[in-house]
Amino acid sequence: MDKFAIAAALQETAARLELKGGEYFKARAFKIGARVVAELTEDLGKLIKENRLTLVKGIGHTLAKQIAELYATGKSSFLTKLRAELPAGILELANVPGLSVKKVERLQEALGISSIDELKAACEAGKIRNVKGFGAKTEQKILEAITSPAQPEQRIHIHHALRAGERLLEYVETAPGFIEGELAGSLRRWQETVSQIIVVVCAKRPEALIDYVLGFPLIVRVAEKTRRYCSVVLSEGFKAKLLAVKSEEYPVALLRATGSDRHLKKLDQVAANQKLKLTQSGIEKLMSSRAKNQTPARAIRVKSEWEIYDRLGMQCVPPELREDAGEVEAALKSSLPQDLITVDDIQGMVHCHTMYSDGKHSIEQMTHAAQSMGMKYITITDHSPTAFYAGGVKIDQLQRQWEEIERVQEQAKIKILKGTESDILADGSLDYPDWILEQFDVIVASIHSRYKMDEEKMTRRLAVAMRQPVFKIWGHALGRLIQRRPPFDCRVEEILDVIAESRAAIEINGDPYRLDMEPRWLREARKRKIKFVISVDAHSTGALNNVKFGVGIARRGWVRRGEVLNSLGLKAFQKSVRPCQNRER
Ligand SMILES: [Zn+2]
Ligand SMILES: [Zn+2]
Repeated sequence: MDKFAIAAALQETAARLELKGGEYFKARAFKIGARVVAELTEDLGKLIKENRLTLVKGIGHTLAKQIAELYATGKSSFLTKLRAELPAGILELANVPGLSVKKVERLQEALGISSIDELKAACEAGKIRNVKGFGAKTEQKILEAITSPAQPEQRIHIHHALRAGERLLEYVETAPGFIEGELAGSLRRWQETVSQIIVVVCAKRPEALIDYVLGFPLIVRVAEKTRRYCSVVLSEGFKAKLLAVKSEEYPVALLRATGSDRHLKKLDQVAANQKLKLTQSGIEKLMSSRAKNQTPARAIRVKSEWEIYDRLGMQCVPPELREDAGEVEAALKSSLPQDLITVDDIQGMVHCHTMYSDGKHSIEQMTHAAQSMGMKYITITDHSPTAFYAGGVKIDQLQRQWEEIERVQEQAKIKILKGTESDILADGSLDYPDWILEQFDVIVASIHSRYKMDEEKMTRRLAVAMRQPVFKIWGHALGRLIQRRPPFDCRVEEILDVIAESRAAIEINGDPYRLDMEPRWLREARKRKIKFVISVDAHSTGALNNVKFGVGIARRGWVRRGEVLNSLGLKAFQKSVRPCQNRER
């Protein structure tokens, strides 16, 4: 068994444990294990042989035993037992609204139902209503649930979609005849959530590639398949769609699959205005009907997305900007910014927590991780005392923290800046007395309590906070948690006006659950010449990788390199975020 097949078996184990109930942590361990195994870069056989599986983060002894057994025999005794305990077809049947494990068991006993098709047939034949615990009404509801396509769309958070998409792409890349491929759709446009993962691939024989893809072990269901297309459901319930094309069709296919619809519509208009038309494999010159009779339309083959835009007489629009928010017009006038911020521009990790508050790792571990990512500095910004639930750092602890920073600094190759994530209190003042605040190298000021103030009070609170004389970075500005909590009620433009005249910058928070501020507000801030930092809000070393999400959302807001403070070198950054204007160090 290869790593993907093993991952699929672990995933199934997790799903069955979840359904069985009462085994939350075990199920979770298997789920994490499945992901870790699918993502292994080292040879699995070698890890097992050298007894090093448990050294991999996320794999404990129980899991290691299962993996070794699966690797050697292709079977897991544990999974086999679980399969026998639960009714057949339970994984798909338990997803039907109104059905629980108990009810599926009853249906199986009474009618031998073990698939959605059998369930549907039984509903249509009116057999379900006679099973104990079911009635005509329930029968009707079940039938509606399995036949109506209008189930509420599940949207996946960007980081989950990206991880699953990258695994799928990694598998596709091993296909014979694979030439090139990329994630497309809203994922390529770095939207906060996506409804499905879209992959566009070009291959020597697209049909053969589709057949190969269907062998990806994390596929649990194939929803649709044609010769050059398949739509599948992955083990985590994510929908994925794969398009396979020939290489001459690839640029246009990628462009079309990336979207957005409104951007594409504009492009079609631009083409039509120039008597051109985007076809499957390139651009065609539209002829007048008379000319058409003389010579056939000539298609110009294009080699890249870039060439499509170029032939339409415009700058190439980066995927993150393709939202019909003025980018087409700007590209036609050649006024699209050429220096949008990139991950490579980032020189320092801003907004990092350690074990002094609610972080998982020490100052030293965070610093080393940032150093190994090629950063030149890191800002340690633990919570302030008012955030007591997050272990806010009291003044005496702060002294110890600074002493520790100085000790770690002696060995570190990058600069550790002493900072805080100071709570914006209800009245707009900042946590810690002024004489402490002035001594930090950097202050992130965030709201962590009283989210539900009315618009008037919240606007005033934030305006007061931003007017504080110390320089501060407005942290996770509007407090949204994607798909969980809406942004605060406040008059954003008014606060931006205050910031434009105060000593403050705005954070672009890379935590994939926050991604705050939103692009539309970033653009409003840019109009006012406000500066930004792209932060990671990291509570662990792994979360330093959040930087790419921060950059993604910044690019969606058209943020340029020169507008991002942590694209500056150490000295310039220090100077620009220094809380106290007169303090020289
Ligand atoms: Zn925070
Ligand atoms: Zn934080």
